[in-house]
Amino acid sequence: MEKILLVDMDDVITVDGFLNMLNEYMGTDYTYDDFPTFYMQDILPDKDKFFTWFKEKNMYDYCRLNDDCYEVLEKLNKHYKLFIATSYIFREIPRDSGHILYQKFEYLKDKLPFINPEQYIFISDKSVLKAYARIDDRTINLIDGEKKVLFSAYHNGDISDEELRKKGIKRARNWKDVEKILLEEI
Ligand SMILES: [Mg+2]
Repeated sequence: MEKILLVDMDDVITVDGFLNMLNEYMGTDYTYDDFPTFYMQDILPDKDKFFTWFKEKNMYDYCRLNDDCYEVLEKLNKHYKLFIATSYIFREIPRDSGHILYQKFEYLKDKLPFINPEQYIFISDKSVLKAYARIDDRTINLIDGEKKVLFSAYHNGDISDEELRKKGIKRARNWKDVEKILLEEI
């Protein structure tokens, strides 16, 4: 049976989008070191005002495809039954999240043309999905599976190797690490 692999999108396939938007909006030069927690928007004094601005933009115009992601995904797509599982509902603007789904769809279709749109899963709670392997930047999305890969991101650097080992999770610092863990260790 083919092995199902779930790959997260934001901060795994794509990087820098939200950071670049925050910097443009605020006229700042923040780096990831300035954001120790997942919700970067918590730094804003007036979140409502920001999200009014945000809704008119496309976050994927501000992001880039992560280094080596294209090549490694192409290989993974041949070895696994691959799905991109990505959440799209912003907690601050749930009713306006439909356009984010559209933007994600268009970005994936343009940038990763070898992945069929039928391999996209737009979701919130990924725990309902069963898979052999998972790649995500949040441990909450790495609950089960034979292979669980935590992709390094600004908000997860403080999780120790020991803590990850106990949960059966391996850390990938980049896409080359993903390749090693999911293709060379098969
Ligand atoms: Mg993510």
